[in-house]
Amino acid sequence: MLLEVQDASKHFGGLVANDRVSFKVRAGEVMALIGPNGAGKSTLFNGISGVDPLTSGSVSFRGERVEYLPAREIARRGMSRTFQHVRLLPAMSVIENVAIGAHLRGRKSFVAAACRSERAEEARLLHEAALQIERCGLAEQMYEAAGSLPLGKQRIVEIARALAADPCLLLLDEPAAGLRYLEKQSLAGLLRRLRAEGIGILLVEHDMDFVMGLADRVLVMEFGQKLASGLPEEVQRNPAVIEAYLGGVE
Ligand code: ADP
Ligand code: MG
Repeated sequence: MLLEVQDASKHFGGLVANDRVSFKVRAGEVMALIGPNGAGKSTLFNGISGVDPLTSGSVSFRGERVEYLPAREIARRGMSRTFQHVRLLPAMSVIENVAIGAHLRGRKSFVAAACRSERAEEARLLHEAALQIERCGLAEQMYEAAGSLPLGKQRIVEIARALAADPCLLLLDEPAAGLRYLEKQSLAGLLRRLRAEGIGILLVEHDMDFVMGLADRVLVMEFGQKLASGLPEEVQRNPAVIEAYLGGVE
């Protein structure tokens, strides 16, 4: 078990964005988080990853409580995330953007760092970045400005950057939004390969075909609460889900 979220709640003043949401993610599984706009999915990501801490509830990551830790420390322990809106430095190259992720995971120890020259450290980061870019199938774009790539490729760069921190759990907030069919296919292929390597993936996604073809389990949220969870085919048949989310789509 990688991640156990128990009774996660987040209040913004009087607004309850997350209301006692509980779920688990195992190593080597894709858990999809779906639900209408405003259901609280991104807020939940922010709570789990420490970007905007929960109001109450607990988050255990690899057996340790992390809900009180800063985002950087949670990332250092092996949880990487992407954001709903692309956050790249557009004028910098793909490899530089990805190297930032390798830098986040940090050095092994202060002594080890002190023994390396800055140039050696930079070379190490760029080497790690190049490996992740190749893993994600973007080798040809490695030295192009990140901002010059089509949106689909920019989203893959963000995943490469998250991977450069060497995570065991990836949180992806709408990675397929705005992608064309073939780009979605290649994204799904990448996520399947990562899952096969044992990485746990929690992803927010709107495209039902994409979710149902990829996810091992699905969690449906509405108005900040868990509406349903289970296997994709179970969730798809759940009348409450059809009513709330699928809204007449069969
Ligand atoms: P989703 O990602 O499912 O579309 P969000 O988590 O972004 O939903 O938002 C859930 C609710 O919380 C919405 O009503 C949104 O307006 C509100 N919300 C999100 N972030 C903030 C914030 N920083 N301050 C106040 N309200 C917020
Ligand atoms: Mg969102």
